[in-house]
Amino acid sequence: MAKYAKVDKETCIACGACGDAAPDIFEYDDDGVAMVVYGGDENRGVTPIDASLEAELQDAADSCPSGSILVSDAPFA
Ligand code: SF4
Repeated sequence: MAKYAKVDKETCIACGACGDAAPDIFEYDDDGVAMVVYGGDENRGVTPIDASLEAELQDAADSCPSGSILVSDAPFA
């Protein structure tokens, strides 16, 4: 089943771990705060992330020191 993801930009501490773990899913804004860019999502959490990237996504979520990566089986909006 596809997953959906978004970053809580209020709690992200701009550590850079998620982009290393899952470069196809995460990028950073000018302040280094992460966002989901996969499929043009623009951190809305509404784009289904392909199952082939699920391990990367989970690695990123597990490596986030602030618990800012939100993952769900359903779209966020
Ligand atoms: Fe932000 Fe977490 Fe990504 Fe670090 S791993 S940049 S704290 S979302």
